[in-house]
Amino acid sequence: MKKVLIYYEQKQHKNSIELLAVARLIYGGTSADEEHTEAYETYGVSLEPTGSEANGLFDFLIQICGDSAQRERRALAPCQEHDQDNSPGCDALYMTSILAELQQEYQFDCILFPATHMGRMLAPRLAMRLQTGLVADVTDIRYKDGIMEIVRPAFSGKLMAGILSRTAPLMMSVRQNVFSYDPGRLTETRLISYTPKTASSEGLRLLKVREKEASKDIRDSDILISGGGGVMRDFKKLSDLAGELDALVSASRKTVDHGIAPRSIQVGQSGKTVSPKLYLALGINGSIQHIEGLKNVEYMIAVNTNKNAPICSISDIVVEGDAKEFINKLTEKIRKEKSKEARNEFAFQK
Ligand SMILES: Cc1cc2nc3c(=O)[nH]c(=O)nc-3n(C[C@H](O)[C@H](O)[C@H](O)COP(=O)(O)OP(=O)(O)OC[C@H]3O[C@@H](n4cnc5c(N)ncnc54)[C@H](O)[C@@H]3O)c2cc1C
Repeated sequence: MKKVLIYYEQKQHKNSIELLAVARLIYGGTSADEEHTEAYETYGVSLEPTGSEANGLFDFLIQICGDSAQRERRALAPCQEHDQDNSPGCDALYMTSILAELQQEYQFDCILFPATHMGRMLAPRLAMRLQTGLVADVTDIRYKDGIMEIVRPAFSGKLMAGILSRTAPLMMSVRQNVFSYDPGRLTETRLISYTPKTASSEGLRLLKVREKEASKDIRDSDILISGGGGVMRDFKKLSDLAGELDALVSASRKTVDHGIAPRSIQVGQSGKTVSPKLYLALGINGSIQHIEGLKNVEYMIAVNTNKNAPICSISDIVVEGDAKEFINKLTEKIRKEKSKEARNEFAFQK
């Protein structure tokens, strides 16, 4: 029976679930190549401070590790109760020591991290301790001639590299929003309490956790107003529309390369992978590299002067016309509707 350890990051709930999809692609038989099905069990672990939410965390570990397709699921809780005093906190070296200990104890065949700040901090340190390889920022797992190929972007996304891993345990950090997992498969599991042998960190101690003001990440938005080469001159107008729809602005690489939009909002192969409910593509042609960044988008609207642009063939609605005019009219219409609603509400209250 193969053993997979997934690192659960509390603030990246969805991404932790995505790691279960990766585990299944590696061992679980839902990959294109059924021959590679192997019995496996998943363990989940989290080492961040949870404070009063400790119980909630453990419930979550139980949940995420359940997968009815497999024999047995487990949740691993290395510290029985995380609190501010005994938590490994943000001490990456201490956290790495605990993970290395767990590896010693359980001999995992595969260890998966989300490619978040935390995952990127822990995964390479653990790989060094375990003297194993690490494939970072994985975007696909495929089988070729019976051999597993781990895919990740290389050279700023200029090519997708297929990597064969020959080291053990197999270690990866996995790009967010790329893999999807059906939570309907979650079932009950077993909670294992584990008390770390390693004494707490000598140098660092967590005194208090201060929440950083939530930064807006296009990967977290349900609605994205995305602009490309066709709206470069009017890119600022996208924010007006986004403001009215409680959405975020994203962009194609062309606008980023021209210095009109920041790289942090670029969608695509060399940018971010997004899964909004609504993607509004304004003046975007729909190159393969851009489409690569759209996964599980529920609804897509394209506004383009050329109805034969590739983005139109994958959109639910195509508006043939000028994107600037579309933004102005839609923003104005929404504002009018909102003020009409507000007036009606006021009249009703009177
Ligand atoms: C290695 C590599 C990685 C890449 N990674 C990415 C990536 O991550 N993300 C990404 O986006 N690209 C990426 N690219 C670039 C990609 O190939 C395209 O060049 C880029 O996506 C084009 O951007 P665009 O569609 O916004 O602009 P254009 O190709 O210029 O298309 C503009 C579109 O707007 C339409 N249009 C023009 N005027 C108007 C108007 N007034 N109103 C409405 N529509 C109008 C046009 O008909 C056209 O369809 C990558 C390329 C390479 C080689």
